[in-house]
Amino acid sequence: MAKIIAEMAIDTVTMELPDTKTLKLAWPEGYTVDFKTGQFITVYWPDTPGYKRAYSLSSCAMDQGFFEVTVKRDGKMGTRIVDWAKAGDKLGVLPPAGKFLPVLEPDKHLVCIAGGSGVTPFRGFVRDATRRKLATRITILYSVRTTADIIFNAEFRQLEQENPNFKFHVTCTRLGAEDPWPGRRGRIDADWVRSQIGDVANTVFYACGPNALVENTHDLVVKELGIPKTQMLLEKWG
Ligand SMILES: Cc1cc2nc3c(=O)[nH]c(=O)nc-3n(C[C@H](O)[C@H](O)[C@H](O)COP(=O)(O)OP(=O)(O)OC[C@H]3O[C@@H](n4cnc5c(N)ncnc54)[C@H](O)[C@@H]3O)c2cc1C
Repeated sequence: MAKIIAEMAIDTVTMELPDTKTLKLAWPEGYTVDFKTGQFITVYWPDTPGYKRAYSLSSCAMDQGFFEVTVKRDGKMGTRIVDWAKAGDKLGVLPPAGKFLPVLEPDKHLVCIAGGSGVTPFRGFVRDATRRKLATRITILYSVRTTADIIFNAEFRQLEQENPNFKFHVTCTRLGAEDPWPGRRGRIDADWVRSQIGDVANTVFYACGPNALVENTHDLVVKELGIPKTQMLLEKWG
């Protein structure tokens, strides 16, 4: 396995939301890497090689020849990428790393809990399972402020059509009472998570995003619902 730092050109940029951008980074000629769905890459701008930040892959291991990452305008690196990164720019990329990996076994149910931009690696999970027509059940429980903040909404709805084992559930925390949204409102709570669980022994829980959200979700699953810690994987962004 090549453990090389490569400069990758941005092939395309896609604005998912006004503050959220997906970069498609083309692997350079001869680049090979052994990596897994759910891992993150670390990137830097060539003019500031000392300033490196991690981004979860929003693409999956079936995607060869490029990496996709989906970045929210937040902090120095997040702002530079969302406001300035354009096709043709180059970024330094460290090879994928990390252990936030989907257990894509046929009898498993992955309950993936996210808020805001924390949904990015779950796109990779679902894309991988759908492309390979896996029997693994995947349920995303996604908390956003309003319907305007749902990243990958159309794509997840399309994946739901393609994959009978995938469900995408959204809850909105700050919608006005007059908003016609027919879906769930309020924060992710123990009752909502509990209502998704069938065979608890074969359920694996995932939480990803800013530390506070991940820690709250851990407490909800492990302390409130009494799920063993070993059935939960966490990815803290800081
Ligand atoms: C494994 C991993 C995966 C990640 N995946 C993703 C991903 O897929 N998508 C994504 O968008 N991010 C992801 N992140 C977060 C990402 O690495 C960056 O931390 C993020 O883009 C913010 O950039 P920064 O660190 O340069 O921000 P910094 O400038 O260091 O700021 C960090 C935080 O402090 C706040 N802050 C900065 N300056 C001030 C100030 N003066 N006053 C108050 N608050 C301030 C910022 O708003 C930000 O929330 C991931 C992190 C990790 C560890």
